Amino acid sequence: MNHTDNIYDLTVAGVRQLVPYVAGKPIEELERELGLTDIIKLASNENPLGPSKKALTAIQDALPKLTLYPDGNGFNLKSALAKKYALNVGQITLGNGSNELLELVARAFLAPGLEAMFSRHAFAVYPIVTQAVGATAVVIPALNYGNDLEAMAARVSEKTRVIFIANPNNPTGTLLSQVDLERFISALPKHCLCVLDEAYFEFVADKEGINSIDWLKTNPNLIITRTFSKAYGLAGLRVGYGLSSPEIADILNRVRQPFNNNMLALVAAEAALADGDYLRQTITVNAQGMSDLTVGFKALGLEWIPSAGNFVSVDLKRPGQPTYEALLRKGVIVRPVANYEMPNHLRISIGTQAENQFFLEALAETLANV
Ligand SMILES: *Cc1c(COP(=O)(O)O)cnc(C)c1O
Repeated sequence: MNHTDNIYDLTVAGVRQLVPYVAGKPIEELERELGLTDIIKLASNENPLGPSKKALTAIQDALPKLTLYPDGNGFNLKSALAKKYALNVGQITLGNGSNELLELVARAFLAPGLEAMFSRHAFAVYPIVTQAVGATAVVIPALNYGNDLEAMAARVSEKTRVIFIANPNNPTGTLLSQVDLERFISALPKHCLCVLDEAYFEFVADKEGINSIDWLKTNPNLIITRTFSKAYGLAGLRVGYGLSSPEIADILNRVRQPFNNNMLALVAAEAALADGDYLRQTITVNAQGMSDLTVGFKALGLEWIPSAGNFVSVDLKRPGQPTYEALLRKGVIVRPVANYEMPNHLRISIGTQAENQFFLEALAETLANV
């Protein structure tokens, strides 16, 4: 018998070594800590416009039904997605945020002795879901802060089961070309799944001709994940989805909880999906904000990583933490990215014009004083 009074000794190995995900600081937390009001948060790549009015109306209309369980198959939302993307409903898996899809993939396809591969400076959830199931994370050095597809292809082994690639990548904002990406995915061996994380694809879709859905026809091991948290402005509701072969969708649907999307999330996502004006406005405001921020960085003599997302990582050429803390005291929450091995960068989510301006002024004052 193994006697222990340390509960950590009882946890499975991968879990014991997990480092918890560090989220952007919530506005209420900073209010409590510093007694500030009028705080702006540019830390979690949320949509600065507030939710779509259509989503809010859908939620209002659904409230009287809250005693009932939601539709565990998410039929209406899946049908709307299937129609939009010309796929079959059976190719769609809904998740409690696209984070849940990442976790479902890990639980279905990874185990001790198997490997998941991703780039340095990749999304922090990839190592978490990999370790949680006891699989081995293989981290490939980045190329100009982005995914180095050649280096990744060269490192694929018999043990590689899942490759996570975010395009655009978070927190760096780097974008791979569709041609390179398709070539990489098509050349993967059959025992290797590619999770193409397109959480930010709406911000580039028009410009870059994103056509990854076409690749599903010839790549049964491809899973594309997308979300309502970013461009669709519903991060608080937690809705994401996976697009894949019917077989992968079937497997993921076996692993998930029966009611993983709540009723309000389902109706709001469906309404947001139909709100083309909101999406267009989001993309316009983001493009203008990206331009304003980078012009501001340039004026301050700062460099940044060119970003295809709704955020940009700026290089302070000195540790970012003191500047992050000084900005907090001015009521501005941004994201330190030392945990992404980028200690001199801060990641700024694009805000409204007024928020971007307020941030740039706070940054200028801070840099003059730090
Ligand atoms: C924000 C983000 C997600 C989406 O998370 P949700 O769970 O859908 O809110 C997924 N991948 C990346 C790279 C992200 O930055």
